[in-house]
Amino acid sequence: MQSIPSQARVVIIGGGIVGCSVAYHLARRGCSDVLLLERRQLTCGTTWHAAGLVGQLRATHNLTRLAQYTTELYEGLERETGQATGFRQVGSVAVAASEARFEELKRGASMARCFGLEVQILTPGEARERWPLLAIDDVVGAVYLPKDGRCNPVDTTQALARGARLRGARIVEGVKVTGILRAHGRVTGVATEAGEVRAEVVVNCAGMWAREVGALAEVSVPLHAAEHFYIVTEPIPGLTANLPILRDADARSYFKEDAGKLLVGWFEPEAKPWGTGGIPENSAFEQLPPDMAHIEPLFAGAMRRVPILETTGVQVFFNGPESFTPDDRYLLGEAPELEGLYVAAGFNSIGIQSAGGAGKVLADWIIDGHPPFDLWDVDIRRCAPFQRNRRYLRDRTVEVLGLLYDMHWPYRQAASARGVRKSALHDRLAAAGACFGEVAGFERANWFAAPGEEPRYQYSYGRQNWFDASAAEHHAVREAVGLFDQSSFAKFVLKGRDAARVLNHVCANDVDVPVGRIVYTQWLNERGGIEADLTVTREAEDSYLIVSACATQARDFHWLSRSIPDDARAVAVDVSPAWAVLGLMGPRSRELLQSLTDADLSTAAFPFGTSRIIDLGYARVRASRITYVGELGYELYIPTEFAQSVYDVIVAAGGPYGLRLAGYHALNSLRIEKAYRHWGHDISDEDTPLEAGLGFAVSWEKAGGFLGREALRAQRARRVRRRLVAFALGRADRLLYHNEPIWRNGELVGKISSGMFGHTVGAALGLGYLANGGEIVSEDWIASGRYEIEVAAERVPARASLRAFYDPAGERVKC
Ligand SMILES: Cc1cc2nc3c(=O)[nH]c(=O)nc-3n(C[C@H](O)[C@H](O)[C@H](O)COP(=O)(O)OP(=O)(O)OC[C@H]3O[C@@H](n4cnc5c(N)ncnc54)[C@H](O)[C@@H]3O)c2cc1C
Repeated sequence: MQSIPSQARVVIIGGGIVGCSVAYHLARRGCSDVLLLERRQLTCGTTWHAAGLVGQLRATHNLTRLAQYTTELYEGLERETGQATGFRQVGSVAVAASEARFEELKRGASMARCFGLEVQILTPGEARERWPLLAIDDVVGAVYLPKDGRCNPVDTTQALARGARLRGARIVEGVKVTGILRAHGRVTGVATEAGEVRAEVVVNCAGMWAREVGALAEVSVPLHAAEHFYIVTEPIPGLTANLPILRDADARSYFKEDAGKLLVGWFEPEAKPWGTGGIPENSAFEQLPPDMAHIEPLFAGAMRRVPILETTGVQVFFNGPESFTPDDRYLLGEAPELEGLYVAAGFNSIGIQSAGGAGKVLADWIIDGHPPFDLWDVDIRRCAPFQRNRRYLRDRTVEVLGLLYDMHWPYRQAASARGVRKSALHDRLAAAGACFGEVAGFERANWFAAPGEEPRYQYSYGRQNWFDASAAEHHAVREAVGLFDQSSFAKFVLKGRDAARVLNHVCANDVDVPVGRIVYTQWLNERGGIEADLTVTREAEDSYLIVSACATQARDFHWLSRSIPDDARAVAVDVSPAWAVLGLMGPRSRELLQSLTDADLSTAAFPFGTSRIIDLGYARVRASRITYVGELGYELYIPTEFAQSVYDVIVAAGGPYGLRLAGYHALNSLRIEKAYRHWGHDISDEDTPLEAGLGFAVSWEKAGGFLGREALRAQRARRVRRRLVAFALGRADRLLYHNEPIWRNGELVGKISSGMFGHTVGAALGLGYLANGGEIVSEDWIASGRYEIEVAAERVPARASLRAFYDPAGERVKC
């Protein structure tokens, strides 16, 4: 048994490439009081058998920045540490065997350009010039990324470990962490086979063991292992070490030169989950039995693409476990359940290419107390607590491995482990033809199929099969009245004598308002970035109802709870399941609601921005005059057990008013016409209200100020260098989703943060930030530009506006 120190500032659990990268980056930032504990030997988990592909292009800009950083780091690591890494920048070729796949690759190429990556679109012939063994008879086109690379994962991990040790970090092998110590909601250290270690911060980098390590402290780390297969051939004459990586997602295969041989790996549509009952105690350098029947069809696809495989022998059939998360994105950051416990795990087959960047930003997060930029895509706070459920993880893992190489269709929904969280109205909506989408396990009606039609997605990059149905829902809301089930909203109550004081410091807007008022506000960090975007209703002198999005439930509740000072008399409670929410929206919503209640709904008695408890059917509900669609309307907060009866009453009375059920796709179309921002797309913790055009919701002079005010004041004085702007595309046959590059007078100035077709405006709409090369972004500068948006490598003219394209004065909302 190794001896270990009794104290360290940071303890890292796990000596795979991720743990070693976190140790390396902490040490590089000057935090050398780091102890990494590995239960067996460095790399013995998943890292040792990785194929070593290091790609750069990820789904979002910030994740691409991390992958780019990884290649830069690996490129110089050998020089810095003296330990070889095997890193080579050989480039990568991705081929498309269908028009749809080629559109996906070209959209990716546009994104790559926007993110500052070198990228080339290739003809099939050009692809074969770069990859001479390629069969191109069915290839439509290809994309080449010259800066992609490959490395030796074991050597790279050792180089990171050496770099960490050289800067003072201690790395101890052969010591297993058996417990996580805590007191008063904070981590205080770890228990190990060799004794306890006190620590301020503990980092769970335990790979496929991370769920079990998290469970030691009741922290949810939703991941599950799956088998992952590759083969290595006999030597193939003429293969050179400079051969690019080849990806053929249609054949679910990747190919890499490996010492004169070919390594061929797969992401099959139905994966084999592994270790559901727990990862075996003695697992180290694990090699699982090969499964020839499982890989045979995959092999056949690879042989069609690279025919020399038909006549080449196979030296190695490899099968090793890797961990996967329910949404194929890794888990990073401080766990909401326990202060000081950080997680970096669940790398979904891209842990080698992610480790550099993930290690760097996690080290920054630990040292600075916040992430260096928006990392919401991988932030562990996006997970719902139920997602650590083993059966759920097992069933979802069957699907997620294959999704890596499946078509990444817009609006694509998971097919496995569905129906987990349902609104009280779910069955009624299903009977009415709802097609559901899922957010953190919550089933939400996205659109309603017409009678006789099947509520099922037919995906494409163009107008999908629900386009017309959703357009009709949209028009019902603009012209008559629509009913949305928004029960998935997160709802918190903050109650107590100090509730107003506490909340007013958290909110940028003034929430010390009369009882019955609703306030739209942001929560800011001290840098002025937007941590949350929500509404706050004063229910009583000492009580607030706080409403935010389903996707940010854990994150927002965590932010609120941590913002309550120890000595304050205020308590936050998550009451989300207690309330169903119906959005009754549209110019005829008042008439319809008035027919069902005695309450006076006139504008004078019940103006916009107010909230009251009213009779509705046999129930008492909270009606709030607020909207996310830009029309007269009411959000109805209904105790869950009354939801069905209230819904029935509204639907029964709705016919004469033109009532129509509406889903989230229509909601998205309606809100983007109004340029209402969406947190997670249009606004994040790195965007300020001034950049986002939300200065109207900032109460600059309120007594006591608010968190983030000083940073915001400084920015106001300097004026903003980037600004969120609304765009309408000049061609109706092209659609915007996100990350499409924005060109101004032929120069790249930004990218689309969210997009949707606006059925009243009659165009594909998007929001996106514009930057002016570090100079002030003025209204004149915005107005004087000629704009184009790049869609699948083609530039399409677009109109830009600082104001919403629909009802910019907001007259329809307040009537
Ligand atoms: C076949 C295959 C091919 C792959 N190819 C690629 C590729 O080409 N490119 C790419 O980017 N990624 C690839 N990957 C994925 C990559 O290998 C992983 O994402 C990565 O290695 C994960 O690293 P890690 O540090 O998170 O986990 P691991 O390497 O598993 O490290 C976790 C460590 O934690 C230790 N540990 C666990 N519990 C405890 C405890 N209680 N106390 C102390 N220590 C503990 C374990 O012993 C283990 O060493 C591949 C994966 C597979 C299976």
